[in-house]
Amino acid sequence: MRRGIWLALLFCLLWLAAAAWPVGAKGESGKTAQLAVVTADQVNVRQGPGVPYRPLANVHRGEAYRLIEVKDGWVNIEWKPNRTGWIAARYVALAKETAIVQENRLRLRQEPSRDGRIIGHLARGETVWVIKEDGEWTEVIADGAIGWVSSAYLTAARESSISHQTGIVNASSLNVRAEPSLKAARVGRLVRGEEVEIVEKKPGWYKIASQTGLDGWVSSAYVQVKGGQANEKEAEAPQSADRSLLSAIAPSDSRLYVDSWTRGPVQALAGKTIVLDAGHGGKDGGAQSVDGIKEKELTLETAKLLKNKLQSYGARVVLTRSSDEYVPLSARVAAARLYQADAFISLHYDSAADPDASGITIYYYDRFADYELAQSFQGLFRQLSALPFRGIAFGDYYVLRENEKPSVLLELGYLSNRSDAAVVATNGYQEAVTTAIVNAVRHYFQ
Ligand SMILES: [Zn+2]
Repeated sequence: MRRGIWLALLFCLLWLAAAAWPVGAKGESGKTAQLAVVTADQVNVRQGPGVPYRPLANVHRGEAYRLIEVKDGWVNIEWKPNRTGWIAARYVALAKETAIVQENRLRLRQEPSRDGRIIGHLARGETVWVIKEDGEWTEVIADGAIGWVSSAYLTAARESSISHQTGIVNASSLNVRAEPSLKAARVGRLVRGEEVEIVEKKPGWYKIASQTGLDGWVSSAYVQVKGGQANEKEAEAPQSADRSLLSAIAPSDSRLYVDSWTRGPVQALAGKTIVLDAGHGGKDGGAQSVDGIKEKELTLETAKLLKNKLQSYGARVVLTRSSDEYVPLSARVAAARLYQADAFISLHYDSAADPDASGITIYYYDRFADYELAQSFQGLFRQLSALPFRGIAFGDYYVLRENEKPSVLLELGYLSNRSDAAVVATNGYQEAVTTAIVNAVRHYFQ
């Protein structure tokens, strides 16, 4: 019996040790590369890890981006808030941790040697990113320049430092995550102008507490520290790359900052631009029910109803078409860019060879920005009793694939299904489904 108790105890201890292990391993995240710094003049960011993939943007020498993963000679980066892409690994240097320069005018050299050509000087107190160490030399990234410094004049920055600074969110939408990693679960979202308390810092990340009670980790690149000095360098690096984008959206950050305080969190849609895309139109009728209901007519009806409801919450709504006209797919996507859409919603009604296929489907393309928008619909669609909810699915649709803005395509019922078709044409369904969409979008921007 006694032996049984000891065995049970031992089992418990082993189980506890196993349960505790992953927590301990997480503490070492500071040692893995977190940042990709561009080392060539101009590099394409592509949709996937390979030259055949479509380029999404260009990045430039010295710009630093958050690193997501490295795979087969390609590096996945976050090249703007919530948008990821791939760049060839040979054009980037990966940094893993920060160090602080202890000597004024510390020489930055091309090679790890006293004979190495001097390519710059670093100032005491400056924070640099560490790429690797070689004997008494450390390869660092400082202000976009890559070079070697004598390791004796660097001290490791504490992996995390306690801080009680305040910061202001300077991205239109910023994810708050449970851990300082892009792969960590999203626990909430902050909007531009929100003030947060910075309670802890790690390279590339701030642990924050928001005034709405959110706490978690955010990318430090999109939080502007108020009157702070520590870690400012690392926060500035990715931000500079994004500045053109931010200024395009917001000519005056300070004005937006004031706006966001006066409007408060209740009016999540105030000032947001939503592009509604009524599928098909003109010569392109889309699907058609056995009773002759045309998809192009139904999508326009839904879009117009949705427009009124969204506007009543203060959103700016743009329709890709407001009459029965043919609008090419490229023009629909262009509208999202032209009007700087905060969200693009394409409305459709489904059709399938199987006459029993029924229900609502949400399609996304981008696994970050689009997927998060898609997720905001699922709870509300599930509650709609009129039609079953089929779920969220990847959809390689032009209006999603070519869209730089968070975009989803909603299939709001099957015209090929006799009972779905009867339901979707009713005022009751149109009211219910548009209310669900509005609430989902409000939730998304909260
Ligand atoms: Zn369609």
